[in-house]
Amino acid sequence: MTDARKIALTWKIRESLRTEGFDICGIAQASPHHEDSNHISEWIAAGRNGSMTFIERNLDKRGDITSLVEGARSVIVAGLRYFSNEPSAGSDNYFVSRYARVRDYHAVMEEKLDRVQKIIKKLVPDSSSRVFCDAGPVTEKAWAIRAGLGWRGKNSLVINKDIGSFFFLGEIVTTAEFLYDYTSARDRCGDCTLCIDSCPTGAICNDRTIDARRCISYLTIEHDGNLPGEFSGRTENMIFGCDRCQEVCPWNKKAVHYTDKELVPEVSLTSLTRRDWQNMTPDDFKKIFRSSPIKRTGYKMIRRNIDFANYGSPEKG
Ligand code: SF4
Ligand code: SF4
Repeated sequence: MTDARKIALTWKIRESLRTEGFDICGIAQASPHHEDSNHISEWIAAGRNGSMTFIERNLDKRGDITSLVEGARSVIVAGLRYFSNEPSAGSDNYFVSRYARVRDYHAVMEEKLDRVQKIIKKLVPDSSSRVFCDAGPVTEKAWAIRAGLGWRGKNSLVINKDIGSFFFLGEIVTTAEFLYDYTSARDRCGDCTLCIDSCPTGAICNDRTIDARRCISYLTIEHDGNLPGEFSGRTENMIFGCDRCQEVCPWNKKAVHYTDKELVPEVSLTSLTRRDWQNMTPDDFKKIFRSSPIKRTGYKMIRRNIDFANYGSPEKG
């Protein structure tokens, strides 16, 4: 492909990503990065994945993105802001992570990226591509950094100097060729340790990873079974996720409410009172959360989280 054609194609794809409402995007050259799977292996060996054993599968693929699409040349990474500036939960309310106060991002991101994928196919008819969003063996944060979207903060999240860290990530892995963003964003955490100091459960490790077994997000969303007694009282009023290490990050000071209409939820979760949550039946739950990521966690675990926030653990701490 000529350079002129690559420039034109890159411009068109960036334009179509903007039209879809993505706030940031970048394109990296697809190639194996076995250091990604090595890091995950070390994290797993330390037991920090908790019961998320699905991460142990396909480690070889996590280290080689070209194994996901035969002949892959490019990884397009896009970010969509989801910060919402409604007040966080008060005493008559429970806390729900901001990412769950909007429509289930998996569907929103995949639909947007799928439309861009179709444009690539039209422009490069012999190309093949796949869309990923928080599914499949893609090391999303590492690819976002390679595509120049930001750096890995000490809280393990990708931080962009303009929009902070409250954004969803999605990728298109494709055989089409583009101009690449080779400039990885520099680390701007400096001497700051606010996220580490503010984590209620000491879950942030000193190598920019999280020990899932101590993280309230993992415990309230992914972990099956009783919540560990040692965290009684430390999850405060959080019943789905925890944004603390993002809320305190100086790079999120300028975060503004999302603007993408496709993210607007069917039900405003911040309007639900403690009484609403406590009186919710399984049928109510299904109706209220049918287009929310909360439905994936399920009624039983949300009830468990409410009990834990109210009364602590049945286990001894
Ligand atoms: S989400 Fe909460 S519990 Fe998990 S690392 Fe961040 S501050 Fe700690
Ligand atoms: S709070 Fe400070 S140390 Fe943590 S991610 Fe943000 S800038 Fe980095």
